[in-house]
Amino acid sequence: MIVVMDAKATQREIEQVKSRLKELGFQTHVIRGVKKQVIGAVGDKSIADAGFLELLPGVEKVMPVLKPYKLVSREAKPEGTIIEMGNLAIGGENIVVMAGPCAVESREQIVETARAVKEAGAQILRGGAFKPRSSPYSFQGLGIEGLKYLREAAEETGMLVVTEVLDSQDIPAVSEYSDILQIGARNMQNFRLLRAAGKQEKPVLLKRGLAATIEEWLMAAEYIMCEGNYRIILCERGIRTFENSTRNTLDISAVPLVKRLSHLPVVVDPSHASGKWYLVAPLAKASLAAGADGLLIEVHPRPEEARSDGAQSLTPENFKTLMEDLKKMAPFLGRRLDS
Ligand code: PEP
Ligand code: MN
Repeated sequence: MIVVMDAKATQREIEQVKSRLKELGFQTHVIRGVKKQVIGAVGDKSIADAGFLELLPGVEKVMPVLKPYKLVSREAKPEGTIIEMGNLAIGGENIVVMAGPCAVESREQIVETARAVKEAGAQILRGGAFKPRSSPYSFQGLGIEGLKYLREAAEETGMLVVTEVLDSQDIPAVSEYSDILQIGARNMQNFRLLRAAGKQEKPVLLKRGLAATIEEWLMAAEYIMCEGNYRIILCERGIRTFENSTRNTLDISAVPLVKRLSHLPVVVDPSHASGKWYLVAPLAKASLAAGADGLLIEVHPRPEEARSDGAQSLTPENFKTLMEDLKKMAPFLGRRLDS
């Protein structure tokens, strides 16, 4: 249920409503909008127990949220969420591009990639240090050493970092080196990891599970948000279908649909969605046309030598060409792509 406060409601009135909700057994979350503040009340009680709240000073109306996800729903916050990180805004008019190799392989490799993607206009450097590989015999990532190289490369080039956290016990180490914590497709329903990510401060990039419905994906985001972390970016990365000529099937309709159902920013990963480097540029363009707030793209200086996902990695040259095209497209979509 959502308690919409009057635009002129005082802090005291908000506190009074929160304490009445707590007495009734609800957990409360104040969601600050541009004009109004709303109080999200979550718990197993219903609006029937709280309708009287409309009589309290400062309350405009009390509304049920019929969807199973509450805090992440559009109803809770009609205007889209914008996540501010230094000079960068994720959501709103801005388009954000996160780029880098699948895995951090060496200091030289990540520094070389960082320089190239920054030069082309990416704002966030990606690279896995803890890799969720299908086979236990495949390269598992450099771990902490990889995180250090990633941070160094980002500092040198003036970029932010996003990297995956595989296990809740790694959260302290990963957040020491990364600006955004990525929760991968395979962990989308690791509820303990989701809760742990909700209890810390860094924004979370939540990838859609391999076979997750949109509702399951939004419920996973709700797990993070109900712990108090409101800074979540959703990432569509393709889902499993009967089609096996691509690695996954990019669910392009998820982009406008999720933006309608939720206030959270949505980005697309055309690399894992397709598995083929030559499909990345067309899918990236389609994603922006469908309303995505950004992209996550794998780039490797020498894809043929990559220790993982070389087939879907762009060369720095191809990435540069793509970025030039995206910069031309952005104004037609009413968006901005600032480096
Ligand atoms: C990744 O982005 O490094 C990754 C492993 O992707 P996904 O979790 O979407 O498979
Ligand atoms: Mn990869």
